[in-house]
Amino acid sequence: MDAVCNGPELQYREKIRAVADALRAHKGPIFVVSHVDPDGDAIGSSLGLYRALRALGKEAFWIAEPPRYLRFLVREEEYTGPLERLPEGALLVVLDAAEPGRVAGAPVEGFVVNIDHHGTNPRFGCLAVVDPSKAATAQMVKDLVDALGVVWTPEIATPVLTGIITDTGNFRFANTTPEVLHTAAELVGYGVPLAELTDRLQWRPASYFRALGAVLSTVAFHFGGLLVTAHLPPGVQVEDSDDFVGLIRYAEGSQIAVFLREREEGIKLSIRSRGGVSAQAVAVSLGGGGHVPAAGATLRGVGLEEAYQRVLAAVEEELRRTGYL
Ligand code: 5GP
Ligand code: MN
Repeated sequence: MDAVCNGPELQYREKIRAVADALRAHKGPIFVVSHVDPDGDAIGSSLGLYRALRALGKEAFWIAEPPRYLRFLVREEEYTGPLERLPEGALLVVLDAAEPGRVAGAPVEGFVVNIDHHGTNPRFGCLAVVDPSKAATAQMVKDLVDALGVVWTPEIATPVLTGIITDTGNFRFANTTPEVLHTAAELVGYGVPLAELTDRLQWRPASYFRALGAVLSTVAFHFGGLLVTAHLPPGVQVEDSDDFVGLIRYAEGSQIAVFLREREEGIKLSIRSRGGVSAQAVAVSLGGGGHVPAAGATLRGVGLEEAYQRVLAAVEEELRRTGYL
């Protein structure tokens, strides 16, 4: 009985409704933000919600820095730069941000709504809807737009579908549930040009293809091939934070893949796993977070060599925990 009347899906629906009610009732400005290093889900979910709020006649603002490969989704006048303070009476909607420290463009203060699908999210904010069973935050925005009663247009549906496409790896990852495919079918029905969109999402600048050779020359196998690593060699420039880990993860026999890149703030790790090995556990042990099969962390104040050592130690522990070693 309880599972039917008070199951997780029902609780989720109630929370989405509560967010919709709060947004509809809010009289002041609404700011929509997402996470640093925005990916397709960060940009797609926040742009989709921003457009839906504007369609409702709300005084909405989208604070974002869309990366080059996603800029085709966006009109120049739709996004504004970062704010140090929010005006009095503002409501802040944070989407796809696993922790308050990863929120980009605005201070996490005042009335904060936190919508996310990372299990490691500490449920910050006044209203938090965190559901790790959802494939993408964009999937949750789809439900929110429905709850708001906004009429779907291709302009709203396209970024929302983008978030779902990118977080499911083009409907290939294990999070591609029947719910995801139904939602995607519905969004395509609202006029999203699916083939054109998936093609456009793969476009990369020449710098990416020039970097590819240098990156692939760093590929290394560890623990008998259970771990595959690669890094962006110092000095090699790429314009976007590109999904190199998405290439090396397909090394046959590997259970976990780690890509390292040097950033101003430290060495950024992108981690992917399969077969019971948790990328999330490795990321958390290194001070980061994310999902079980896809996670990340930033190692501050270390060079590439020490970063590799820490990665190897953390992965070794996870491979032991899961019985591979
Ligand atoms: P990516 O490797 O694509 O940057 O990140 C993979 C996943 O892990 C994403 O869902 C991203 O939000 C999350 N993630 C990446 N880096 C961090 C981090 O430093 N901390 C936390 N909590 N999550 C991260
Ligand atoms: Mn996401």
